[in-house]
Amino acid sequence: MTTYDLVLANGRILDGCGNPWFWGDLAIQEGRIVDIAPAGTLQGKQRIDAAGRFISPGFIDIHTHSDLSILVNRLAESAVRQGATTHVIGNCGMSPAPVDDAHLTEICTQWGPISDQPEVSWEWRAFDGYLRAMQSGGLGINIAPLVGHGALRIAVKGLDEGAATTTELERMKALLDEALLAGAFGLSTGLVYPPGCYASTEEIIALGSVVARYHGLYASHIRGERETILEAVAEAIRIGHEAGIPVQISHNAPKFGAPCEASANLRLVEEARERGQDVTVDNDVHTDLAPALTHGLPQHIQDRPAGEISALLRDPEKRSEIRKEIVEDRKPAFGPVGLLKHGQWQRITMLHAPKSPEVVGETIQGISNERGSDPFDTYFDLIVENGHEAEAIFDYIDETNIRILLKHPAVMISSDGQVLAPYGFLNDPIPYQPCSYGEFPGVLERYVRDEPVLSLQEAIRKMTSFPAQRLGLRDRGVIRSGAWADIIVFDLERMRDRATNLYPHSYPFENYPHQYPEGIDYVFVNGVMVVNGEEHTGALPGVVLRHKIRNEP
Ligand SMILES: [Zn+2]
Repeated sequence: MTTYDLVLANGRILDGCGNPWFWGDLAIQEGRIVDIAPAGTLQGKQRIDAAGRFISPGFIDIHTHSDLSILVNRLAESAVRQGATTHVIGNCGMSPAPVDDAHLTEICTQWGPISDQPEVSWEWRAFDGYLRAMQSGGLGINIAPLVGHGALRIAVKGLDEGAATTTELERMKALLDEALLAGAFGLSTGLVYPPGCYASTEEIIALGSVVARYHGLYASHIRGERETILEAVAEAIRIGHEAGIPVQISHNAPKFGAPCEASANLRLVEEARERGQDVTVDNDVHTDLAPALTHGLPQHIQDRPAGEISALLRDPEKRSEIRKEIVEDRKPAFGPVGLLKHGQWQRITMLHAPKSPEVVGETIQGISNERGSDPFDTYFDLIVENGHEAEAIFDYIDETNIRILLKHPAVMISSDGQVLAPYGFLNDPIPYQPCSYGEFPGVLERYVRDEPVLSLQEAIRKMTSFPAQRLGLRDRGVIRSGAWADIIVFDLERMRDRATNLYPHSYPFENYPHQYPEGIDYVFVNGVMVVNGEEHTGALPGVVLRHKIRNEP
């Protein structure tokens, strides 16, 4: 009888494909699953008893922003502690490559203070160089990169608001080609953010045709997720259709101000699928987001230096123009701005304001009552006082929509978070990103165990084999002989997301600093243990995954 290196024994095995669990043993050797057999039958040099627990593929988080934070924390603490073994990066049009000398400042401004961290060397320019820099220091998780349309556009024309000329478009196509050849899984857009919001549908279709040559993916933070959500979903579907590429609609919950429930945007996806178009969706289950208040300003202003923004807001005429522009929302701004547009000031709770600390924990409505000023002016005043450092929690998603999305078979579960750690730079100041710590455990705890919206096997499918299929990763996200051993062992009874702070928020904010969840007992990446109970083992077995080139274009 063969003695394997490692056997996970007596577990309830969930294969990731949506099948109910079965009792079994699983053997791992040289990074891969090599045998699956009835419980109690396999022998291993090392044997971990998984009795009473589930064994499943590690979670593949198809929508993250770990592009730079994985360089700062290569252990990938918050990811592996919640059972994620692969992060897809480069989402919402943002990737740190390609970049050129002339536009490095713009890219750094977009990424914010993390771009100044010593671990973020910016030694790369081309996409391949970035992936090499990432791999060379070791990784706690696997990384699957997308290339951001915003990065391509910045490299060609900075944050210019104009349409791309023929020459500029050709240059963007060439940079995209280079990134896809280096192994990017596809192209992402962020059509509410600068500079993506300045691009026409035709510009994206033209780039999409390059992606088609590599059988890549189009992932989009669509052009408005509130009032214009249906038009924006239709645009994403049109881009996929005309370019001939599959579409992934990112974090597709309707935000406050949308005219419909999620079932309406999902119907467009269903119709496209009925026509034979490959369109899928992801979503996270958090109802809030905590951006800088400056991100609520019109796109052409939000990335300017704080001093410039303050000067604009101090000028009464400019201030009223900006206010008008926000309310009109002609170039749809990102989701949270719906709360400004519709005057939902009680749903915006101040999280961080170093120059006016007395407001932290209060809503814009409450602060405005105390100050005796109009809430819109209060919002602007807090920016004048704190610059880009003013941050608030925006409660902008209705949980009904989260349930609708969770149940839909074409929707997978993503975090929209990033690698964080409760120590070091990534914890200072503490960012409000409960999704980064507790997305997957939170789904299992709340929506599978406590108030079932999904069966366990369906939830696991949406976190494993489904995103793997979307990415074309045929040997990950499943428990099967020959697949890479990205595996977790968890206890559903003990599962607890400890990074929660539900609306209405209580102050002092609960669960600060963010904490790791409970119930994920072991995590293996490429067959190597990275989480052992409460501890990170320090191992860095992750790899940068590169999209397989099927035919030399
Ligand atoms: Zn996004």
